[in-house]
Amino acid sequence: MFKKILIANRGEIAVRIIRACKELGIKTVAVYSKADSEALHKQLATETICIGEANSLDSYLNMERIISAAIATGCDAIHPGFGFLSENPTFARMVEKCGITFIGPNPEVMEKMGNKAQAIDSMIEAGVPIVPGSHKAVTKEEGKKIADEIGYPVLIKASMGGGGKGIRFVRRPDDFGFSYDEAKDEALKFFASDELYIEKYIDSPRHIEVQVMCDHFGNVIHLFERNCSLQRRNQKMLEEAPCQSISQELKDKLYQSAILACKHVGYDSVGTIEFLVDKDENYYFIEMNTRIQVEHSVTEAVTNIDIMKNMIKIAYGLKLPYKQEDIKLLGYAIECRINAEDMYNDFIPSPGKITFLHIPGGMGVRFDSAVYSGYTISPYYDSMIMKLIACGKTRLECIRKMRASLEELIIDGVKTTTEFHYVLLHHPTFILGNYDTKFIETFIKELNSNAKLIR
Ligand code: ADP
Ligand code: ADP
Ligand code: MG
Repeated sequence: MFKKILIANRGEIAVRIIRACKELGIKTVAVYSKADSEALHKQLATETICIGEANSLDSYLNMERIISAAIATGCDAIHPGFGFLSENPTFARMVEKCGITFIGPNPEVMEKMGNKAQAIDSMIEAGVPIVPGSHKAVTKEEGKKIADEIGYPVLIKASMGGGGKGIRFVRRPDDFGFSYDEAKDEALKFFASDELYIEKYIDSPRHIEVQVMCDHFGNVIHLFERNCSLQRRNQKMLEEAPCQSISQELKDKLYQSAILACKHVGYDSVGTIEFLVDKDENYYFIEMNTRIQVEHSVTEAVTNIDIMKNMIKIAYGLKLPYKQEDIKLLGYAIECRINAEDMYNDFIPSPGKITFLHIPGGMGVRFDSAVYSGYTISPYYDSMIMKLIACGKTRLECIRKMRASLEELIIDGVKTTTEFHYVLLHHPTFILGNYDTKFIETFIKELNSNAKLIR
């Protein structure tokens, strides 16, 4: 097994990776920015190296410094986590060139699937259903022509996009031009690429994704689906598994398509295939995340399989120790992403010092975070500070457990989205489980009055 892994990330995912390494008997090196000198990942790792200023470009996105740190400390692998450099094939190639293993898929497949327009092209080849659209990067004029053909509304999406950024909704032909320009500016700013493609807007869809694990020997298995339809501005807020609102027949099709997709492109790590499902249970591939995801813990809870440890073992060259029939669904799980944001003020970030923290517990409750009492949340990074995961034999048990956990959770000193989740877990639409991606928009409008009813 690897002897020492450098973790090119921060926050809860860095802590998650360190925990997996400890269980596997692997030493860890945490890199941290000057803003993160009190961070938990730094405190838990075997060794630490400061790699630069608070600004990510100078630290967590600085490839040369991260690789130098790995060489200087004698690491034999680098785990990129999510966000930052996790889907950057140039980084993966540089790491491998230095004789260090990149814990993720091979750079070729990452490149192929990382460009979303190109990934759609591969899916056409594989015979996986895709959303009608341009299927490739287009100029403003080409895009307009395609939008006229497929019919409005359409989405303009950044080929290199992620985290819900670089997406524009276009209702009418007249709005196409300026929406294209806006998307182009945002794409350039966030992804250093202004490539855009066009997709038909699927009305009120559900976002259902399939977790996969693939090794270097062509073994490909799925770990069922997650329902990630609870999104604000195309960013997930709560995820659950299994999905309550689609048929078993459709689920089987999603699993088969996910496996087909991975086999077709030669995928060789853990990953996720994201689909949209419309009202008539038509389904469409939208993208593949070629990395560990925020919500992997939901699937871990319902399958009792450690996805992170498997990811590391696969990268080392071990064969998957499971066959598809070994993977069983053991119950229901929900994950709430707790963000340091002001939910009553357009969810603006609320960094600052956590003066007191009480963490919920009990059977079937998991708390993944990198914060502690006295920790100061930095304004420089993502506002997601913790994930609370509850699981139960039935969905109702799971919902009740999550409500109880949210009641116990105390975070003083900063504003958080804890109450958002608490109110959501009491909403009839959520309880029924048949919500779509548009639900949160209406839910947020009524949030204040509903919160008063529950408080
Ligand atoms: P997931 O499906 O795992 O939730 P997201 O797209 O929400 O994936 O992204 C996971 C994390 O990585 C979030 O914190 C998000 O802000 C960040 N992220 C996603 N894409 C990028 C990117 N291209 N550059 C920087 N951060 C990103
Ligand atoms: P990202 O790379 O930022 O995660 P995705 O392509 O996965 O971008 O889309 C993010 C979210 O935007 C989806 O989960 C879905 O809610 C919405 N979305 C994306 N494409 C469409 C579409 N064609 N029609 C309707 N909603 C969409
Ligand atoms: Mg996505």
